[in-house]
Amino acid sequence: MSIKVLDELVSTKIAAGEVIERPVSVVKELIENALDAKATTVEIEMEKGGFQLIRVTDDGNGIANGELSLALTRHATSKIVSVEDLENINSFGFRGEALASISSISNIILVSREPDATTASYIVAHSGQLIESGYQSSKIGTSISVENLFQNVPARLSFMKSAASEARRCTTLVGQYAIAHPEVSFKLFRDGNMILSTPGDGRFQDVIATVWGIDIAEQMLEIDFVTLGDVTLHGFASRPNLNRGRKDGQVLFVNNRLIESQAISFAIADCYREYMLKGRYPFVFLFLSVKPNQIDVNVHPTKAQVRFRKEQEIFSIVQKSINGMLASDVGSTYERPLKQDYEPIVGELIPEQPRLLDNRYVAPSSDFAQDPIMVSASRFESIGQLDTKYIVAKSDDGIYLFDQHATHERIVFENILASRDKGELLVQGLLNPINVSLDAIQFETLTKHHELLVNYGFNWDDFGESTIVLRGIPSDLVESEVTNAFMEILGFLAGEEISNPTTESQTELFVDHQERQIVASLACHGSIRAGQKLLISEMDALLDQFERANYPKVCPHGRPTSMFLSTLDLDKKFGRA
Ligand code: ADP
Ligand code: MG
Repeated sequence: MSIKVLDELVSTKIAAGEVIERPVSVVKELIENALDAKATTVEIEMEKGGFQLIRVTDDGNGIANGELSLALTRHATSKIVSVEDLENINSFGFRGEALASISSISNIILVSREPDATTASYIVAHSGQLIESGYQSSKIGTSISVENLFQNVPARLSFMKSAASEARRCTTLVGQYAIAHPEVSFKLFRDGNMILSTPGDGRFQDVIATVWGIDIAEQMLEIDFVTLGDVTLHGFASRPNLNRGRKDGQVLFVNNRLIESQAISFAIADCYREYMLKGRYPFVFLFLSVKPNQIDVNVHPTKAQVRFRKEQEIFSIVQKSINGMLASDVGSTYERPLKQDYEPIVGELIPEQPRLLDNRYVAPSSDFAQDPIMVSASRFESIGQLDTKYIVAKSDDGIYLFDQHATHERIVFENILASRDKGELLVQGLLNPINVSLDAIQFETLTKHHELLVNYGFNWDDFGESTIVLRGIPSDLVESEVTNAFMEILGFLAGEEISNPTTESQTELFVDHQERQIVASLACHGSIRAGQKLLISEMDALLDQFERANYPKVCPHGRPTSMFLSTLDLDKKFGRA
């Protein structure tokens, strides 16, 4: 393919110039160029967070001798020729602007050899000025080195965080592209150390295992190819027990392009809402393909956002496929590379499963491993579960035992109160409405406290005086617990009367007490129970939230949530102090 300069019409049709915001933008453009060139291996090297060097080497179809300097020219692209082509873009690049932009703010060495060429050619450019060109021997493919990025844009440099944090962004990005392209082997080196190396064997789960670790790959369920109208989707989504305190376990590709979409994020969150603690996010890797003319990729200079022509269609296919997968959870299809030689012992402390690695895998880089499923800002580190009732955790100063139900109850209780005070109590609609039979007293109580119950998220239709159909419930309530909670609340609303409220503040206090009881009941029926097995990650998430509770010592019913044994106490007991 040879490179042509776009005509004026096309270039004006194209939105604002390429924005190279930070090192990761360069890495992204270079990876996309390599993929456009049909590379099967892409090697990324970076020094000092990419500020000193970013080099991307591929084995793709190269650039013709004599066209290297054209590649650095603005609006020179081999990917589209006409305005009509803009409607049907299949490649990543199309503006012919990335290399020109990068070149203007760095020193570039570009070496490339086409498959049938006998030699490679190279050029060197400093701040967009050609310095040197010639021939050299090199493998088939292209290698672009970007040195001293932003050297002539000090303002841009001062915005940047540390080299370490820029490097982390790049690692994340490479991991995301690697997952989207299992048929391509990606290697990432940072300051001389290999951070990531994917097999390129075409198996998504092998890449997920390499990037995120085997434990996570094992908890990912495959979403088979689903087609609805013009949209096809496939991907992987985690079982609800696998979750993370950050959203970066969610990766979305549309027509092979890494994008962000609020609509899709929302659809995903909605699917997991009833399975997951607030503030936790599932791992979801989704690959959508739509007809190129169904998306507008030209809305954002870095092409990070796309606009769907039929957003509703996309929304429903995402929901349908994830919900379907969650409902039918047939288990992971992923096979561990090594036999699991470890069985948790029921009733004993369950240690975190060891990470099993064999030499097919490079250990996940610290960027991924640091917080795959347990971002814990808390001072507690969960060790295991005792009798599936108590969480055992350690801290700097000793060991804690938590009653898992009471602890979670406290958290949910405070969350509901906080949402109530902000006027943000949410109703969760029931797909399958629940019939509840009531006796006369219960029905009278229901009528009397109609408004209060509606305020807390209950919605129902009356059918005579003895049956109601619940259609909406407070969002914090676990669905299987609805009837119990509802009856409990009616019970104490029926039993409680203010006997001679003498002062206004007494009435207020009573109402507050009454409402707190409702909330306590919702919390109780919206919490983890004793007997429920928890993953270490879930325990960590729980304790993390617990740490932020206002009155963490007791559950809403007044039972203690935790016990503490300090190292000092232990030292005394063992005769060390
Ligand atoms: P675009 O990707 O939008 O066309 P770029 O500035 O990224 O613009 O690249 C300009 C041109 O240089 C591309 O159209 C392509 O022909 C060539 N090119 C860039 N990188 C590579 C590569 N890794 N392999 C082959 N050709 C490349
Ligand atoms: Mg490009």
